[in-house]
Amino acid sequence: MRLKGKIAVVTGAGDGIGEAIAKAYGAQGAIVIGCARTLEKVERVINDIKAAGGQGAAVRADVSKKEDVDNLFKFVMEKYGRVDILANNAGITADSRFVKMSEEQWDNVININLKGVFLCGQQAALIMVEQNSGVIINTSSVVGLYGNFGQTNYAAAKFGVIGMTKTWAKELSPKGVRACAVAPGFIATPMVAKMPEKVLDSIKAKVPLGRLGTPEDIANAFVYLASDEASYVTGAVLSVDGGVVL
Ligand code: NAP
Repeated sequence: MRLKGKIAVVTGAGDGIGEAIAKAYGAQGAIVIGCARTLEKVERVINDIKAAGGQGAAVRADVSKKEDVDNLFKFVMEKYGRVDILANNAGITADSRFVKMSEEQWDNVININLKGVFLCGQQAALIMVEQNSGVIINTSSVVGLYGNFGQTNYAAAKFGVIGMTKTWAKELSPKGVRACAVAPGFIATPMVAKMPEKVLDSIKAKVPLGRLGTPEDIANAFVYLASDEASYVTGAVLSVDGGVVL
């Protein structure tokens, strides 16, 4: 087991990539604290982890709300006393062409995908610096490296996530805390299921590996970056995208 006994917080753990990260961490021996706004979905994931012999807890938290984030980390510290891994994964889309994008679409995506990553990262960093150990893994996107049609808000957030990751790596690594990001390509999750079939077919046609990614493809990268095998890796952005932008 590569994460035995580590305390891992996974945001957006109720679906898709977050669910796969939570289950992969659980299978590798981590104690997983999952959060999302819909508690029942996270409870289902944590119950699956427990049924497979793992450990964990489900918490309702909206990562864009400071009070929720503070309560999440307070709960983890009171129950487990440390945080070794933060998978800063929760995110949404609200797509529209640039000239048609509403202020609400902009605010919603920036609040969850950028501010939420900041709030959770900051709480984790405060604890990890005290411990002199830990790793924060942020979820960016291929869109955070190259932009995408209809995703001004999402691209701004995901480019921002990479900027924060590199800044945190500079600030926190001397204090024993690593910060990395994963940049998934197009992954078969409920988020991508919202895209029109025609668009999905055209995306698949552009992927040299010839398929959409699976949530498990991304979870594997999160396991590696959280493990001791990555102990000399910080500030890195790991693309897991089937080569879509080559
Ligand atoms: P998903 O299937 O829609 O799942 C998102 C999860 O995040 C859900 O559990 C959702 O639950 C939770 N969430 C959303 N807003 C939240 C909030 N404010 N606070 C707490 N939890 C929240 O999405 P996904 O495809 O797995 O995406 C996961 C991450 O990967 C996102 O950051 C996304 O941008 C990124 N990503 C995805 C792809 C892709 O192709 N799927 C590609 C690149 C990057 P609730 O709604 O119950 O809160």
